[in-house]
Amino acid sequence: MSAALSAAHGPSGPSGAVTGGDLRLENLTKHFGSFAAVDDVSLTVPQGSFFALLGASGCGKTTTLRMVSGLEDPTRGRIFLGETEVTDLKPYRRPVNTVFQNYALFPHLDIFENVAFGLRRRGVKDVKGPVERMLDLVELGHLARRKPAQLSGGQQQRVAVARALINQPQVLLLDEPLGALDLKLRRQMQIELKRIQTEVGLTFVHVTHDQEEAMTMADTIAVMNAGRIEQLGSPAELYENPVSTFVANFLGQSNLIAGTVEGKDGDVVVVDAQGQRLTLPAKRSRIDSGRIIAGVRPEKVHLARSEAEIPAGHNVLTGGVVSDASFIGVSTQYLVKMPWGAEAGCGEVAVFEQNTGREIQRPGTPVLLHWDPTQTFGLDGAQDIDAGSGIDDEATA
Ligand code: ATP
Repeated sequence: MSAALSAAHGPSGPSGAVTGGDLRLENLTKHFGSFAAVDDVSLTVPQGSFFALLGASGCGKTTTLRMVSGLEDPTRGRIFLGETEVTDLKPYRRPVNTVFQNYALFPHLDIFENVAFGLRRRGVKDVKGPVERMLDLVELGHLARRKPAQLSGGQQQRVAVARALINQPQVLLLDEPLGALDLKLRRQMQIELKRIQTEVGLTFVHVTHDQEEAMTMADTIAVMNAGRIEQLGSPAELYENPVSTFVANFLGQSNLIAGTVEGKDGDVVVVDAQGQRLTLPAKRSRIDSGRIIAGVRPEKVHLARSEAEIPAGHNVLTGGVVSDASFIGVSTQYLVKMPWGAEAGCGEVAVFEQNTGREIQRPGTPVLLHWDPTQTFGLDGAQDIDAGSGIDDEATA
């Protein structure tokens, strides 16, 4: 634990009963009537890590968080902090604090007193030093005597974080804490929260439907879908090796093309994708026979006007025509219409080409698409190829 926190509270936590360790959920399930809001979730959040629960509205994130904090009783399953089971502990007995989207600050108290609240309630006499250290941590020492209404949204959110941290929880739960902020402030607060987490070294569990937010902040992301964990891993693992079409579409953008495995050649899987031959590394393919979905991220794909421009060994798709070209400064984002229907996956392939000064291809231009085959991933062809696409927009709207 950091100097800032241990100096604020001394070595023992508020309950004194539960010692540190990983947060572990075992087969956690919550039914509302016959509906499974959280369905058999098992996962471990390593102590001191920044963990994000990412998913669309209604997938069960908040319910999971409420079970960890003790505000909701699980229908089944167990919750551990280190070696100690906390499933049946009352909320105030758990070394867990929550920061909510609406801050829930006391409007009539100034910032200092808002942060001091938890200490005063526990009968701590000398609150000045710990509160000042907390306000320094969130860089609000100079505003200690203001009321919440006199602060910006981002500043109020930092007060909420300080007020939770001063209780010296082992785990800080953040339930869409940045949801009420505008985009620019949200980006600033993401960096700020990550800095605070690194400085205090506590376990943060952050719930969000914003995939960019999860990727920016978290060491580990669990992607939730319909009450279940779809995939868990580092942002890079999830992005480069999604296990399902849901993750491929929900986390960033993917070009997915339905095909059939033609065979395996050493460590390479050979695919017939709508009559075109693609290869991918066997270790990046979840399937080695039958129906497959080949995927590649837009920034990995390049445009060419002729075969001569394409490096040997690249995957090539022919028959494309540029349907849209948007110059956005750092890159040009293309859509390329392919000679197959949307049922085969992306009827239009997205290509993000870095701005290196190359001529921009206008709509209507016939192009070849190519990429390094090692950048291709392979998914089970029996899935809904569109799962997870468009969900984020709905949730954000
Ligand atoms: P959001 O991002 O919109 O907050 P979420 O992923 O956090 O969504 P939850 O709030 O966990 O989702 O809700 C999961 C599902 O359980 C939803 O379909 C919701 O309607 C349902 N649900 C949540 N609380 C209750 C309740 N008390 N009674 C009945 N159904 C509930």
